[in-house]
Formats: sequence, structure tokens, C-alpha cells
Amino acid sequence: MINFENIKVAFADKSDKDLSRAYLLFKTISNPIISNTLTAFIKVAMWLHLPISWAIKATVYKHFCGGTTIENSQATIDKLWESNIGTILDFSAEGKENEEDFNLAMNETIASIQKAKSESSIPFSVFKPTGLARFALLEKISNNSNLTKEEEIEKTNFEGRIENICQTASDNKVPLFIDAEESWIQGAIDDIAIKMMQKFNKNEAWIYNTLQLYRNDRVDHLEMLFKLAAEEKFFVGLKLVRGAYHEQEIERAKEKGYNCPVHTIKENTDIDYNKALTLCIENIDFVSVCAGTHNEESSALLVELLNKHNISKDDKRVYFSQLLGMSDHISYNAAKEGFNVVKYVPYGPVKDVLSYLIRRAEENTSIAGQMGRELTNIIEEKKRRRNA
Ligand SMILES: Cc1cc2nc3c(=O)[nH]c(=O)nc-3n(C[C@H](O)[C@H](O)[C@H](O)COP(=O)(O)OP(=O)(O)OC[C@H]3O[C@@H](n4cnc5c(N)ncnc54)[C@H](O)[C@@H]3O)c2cc1C
Repeated sequence: MINFENIKVAFADKSDKDLSRAYLLFKTISNPIISNTLTAFIKVAMWLHLPISWAIKATVYKHFCGGTTIENSQATIDKLWESNIGTILDFSAEGKENEEDFNLAMNETIASIQKAKSESSIPFSVFKPTGLARFALLEKISNNSNLTKEEEIEKTNFEGRIENICQTASDNKVPLFIDAEESWIQGAIDDIAIKMMQKFNKNEAWIYNTLQLYRNDRVDHLEMLFKLAAEEKFFVGLKLVRGAYHEQEIERAKEKGYNCPVHTIKENTDIDYNKALTLCIENIDFVSVCAGTHNEESSALLVELLNKHNISKDDKRVYFSQLLGMSDHISYNAAKEGFNVVKYVPYGPVKDVLSYLIRRAEENTSIAGQMGRELTNIIEEKKRRRNA
């Protein structure tokens, strides 16, 4: 059995200064009033082009991001790899709305695949579909609305970009994650993700879709996908997450008066997450899975499932994954035990990764529960070092 509570291992590569900075950061964002005020201020300040990037860069950005470019994320990649933790370079520019930016995001992803092909420290690449098409377009495709002529062209461009990225990943043998987003645009993403798996996963899983298990229909979706894969003989790649847009999902369903697509009881999300993980491991013959979670129970379950099914710790079909700056106690302890671990390392210009950073701040306020975990661990390690 694995001990995720070994705090010394979790923070072994952090200096006292790193720890103090992390303490201050989590302490600040754990307070919902301060956190909300700060995020509102940052949004306005960035909109007004006030020179605050340096302050963000020295604090929250430094903790959660690798650098502004692939090149200057290298120090983070190397440091993680010293602890046998791989990197997924995640170009985190969000909220883009024009074709030029979409092509730029495609080129960034392709560059990250090119880099990954020759470096074992980068076992996966990733992209976020809203980096490649307008949100409103994905929504229209998802609800089968009629598209204008221009939108048809945009749709073709979107699919072309995805195909280009997937082709590059498959040619270079770099597994690729497709991130999941809000449920009302996810239909368009799922459709193309399945097409890409059918096309490129004939001998191995190179393309991975993401399932958000806070959604109450995802276990059914997973079973449908397994059935299709068995019939058509392709390999399934899945990243399993709980889901990052819980509040927005509930609010929108309420506002528009449709059935809420997500669980409203946390335990039900946990049950579905663990069920999906179990089903993936039970079908390991044609499934590759990455557990994208900071949840200790689900991570421990994965260890247990590997043992039960005699799957070796370093089997490339199974990965643990956390975000940079979060749940190091899981990442570092699992990696030390010889399991495959990889961290999302977001990168990009400060103003472009702001939405990502705000999500991290929001999920680390005390109401979300996550905060307790991060701050408690940091405090414990500071205490341990004082007494050592
Ligand atoms: C490597 C990695 C990749 C990721 N990729 C994506 C992605 O592509 N798309 C995406 O949406 N998210 C993604 N996430 C974020 C993820 O979805 C979660 O928001 C985050 O990891 C917190 O969930 P958890 O499993 O770590 O653990 P926990 O802290 O145990 O769970 C928190 C999560 O539980 C759910 N939850 C909270 N309250 C309730 C409630 N009342 N009822 C039901 N459910 C509730 C929410 O999903 C919340 O995020 C990723 C995370 C990681 C680590």
C-alpha cells in the first residue's frame, strides 16, 4: 500500500523560500472574501492594462505555471523529472475568439508534440478545444443548430486543426489528451474525439478524450464507448477527471430550466469516478487511462486496482496526473514508489493564463474543501523542518 501522507517526500524539492511563498499564497486564496476581491481586482486591472503582470508572475503564476513559453518552462520540466515526474505542456491561453489565435494555439500544441517526441520527461501532449474554435460555435454544433455558411467554414477549420494535431501526435507516437469543457459544448468535442480515436487508435491509444465524472451520464457514455471500441476494434484513451465547472453547470441548468447534468451530491461524483476508474482497469486490454485527480481515495483505489489485476506500476497504459502546484503529496509519493506520474504544466503569457489561475484560486478557497488539504500539508512540512 502507498502512503500519500509522506510530507517529507512531497516537498523534498521545495526550498524553505518556496514553502513560505506557497504558504502565503494558499493562506490568501483560502479566504473567500480576499480571494474574490483579488480576482475581481485583477480582472479589472488587466482590462485597464495596469502594470500588474509582474506581481501575478511573482506569486500565483510562479506557483501554478511553468513559464511564458515552452523554452522557459524547461527548468520546471527538469526539476519534476529529477523526481521521476513527467510534464504535460499545457498552452493555457483561454477565451480566444479569432482564427489567427486558433491557428496559433494549434501550432503551439504541435510544437509541444514535437518537443515531447524526443524527451521522455514529456510523456503526453494536450489541448483545450476552446483554444481552437469559438465557444459559441461549439455550442451550436453541440445542440445541432443550423450553421451559417461562415460557421460551416469555421467548423471545417476547427476539425482540420484537431485532425492536424492528432495526426502529428500519432506520427510522432506521442499520446495526446483532449481536455473536457462545459457540458453544453462537450457534445461537439466528444464527437470529434471519438472520430479521432477511431482513426488513430487502431493499434494503440494515442488519442485520449476526457470524461468528467461529476456529470450524471458519463458512466453510460463510457460503456457506450467501450462497446463501440469492441465492435470497431480501436483502442480507447481516457483521462478521468471530476470536472472543473460544477457551479456554472448548476447555475445554467437552473437559469434555463433543464435537468441538471451534474451530480449535486459530492459522494455521487466520487462513486462515478471510482466506477469509471475500475471499468477502465478491468478493460485494460483495449483501454489506456490517466487518473487526473487530487483525490487521495481515488488515487489509492488506482494503486489497489493495479495490484489486483497484476498490472505493473510502470505500465504505460496507466498514469496518475495532478496539476503543477497541487497535491504534490500524491504526485511525489506515487512517483517515488515507481508509478507513472505526470503533471500538467500550464504555460503562456500572464494575461492569457489568467482564467486558468482564477479557476485554481476558486477551487482553493475554503468552501471548496481543497484548500484544507494544500495548506495543511504545507504547514505540516514547515513544522517538520523546524523540528528536524
Ligand atoms: C491532470 C488533470 C487534468 C484535468 N483536466 C480537466 C479537464 O480536461 N476538464 C475539466 O473539467 N477539469 C479538469 N481537471 C480538473 C478536475 O476536473 C477537478 O476540478 C479537480 O481535479 C478537482 O477534483 P479532484 O478529483 O481532484 O478531487 P476532489 O477535491 O475530491 O473533488 C472536487 C471536485 O468534486 C466535484 N464536486 C464538488 N462539489 C460537488 C457536489 N456538491 N456534488 C457533486 N460533485 C461535486 C467537482 O468536480 C470538484 O471539482 C483536471 C485535473 C487534473 C488534475
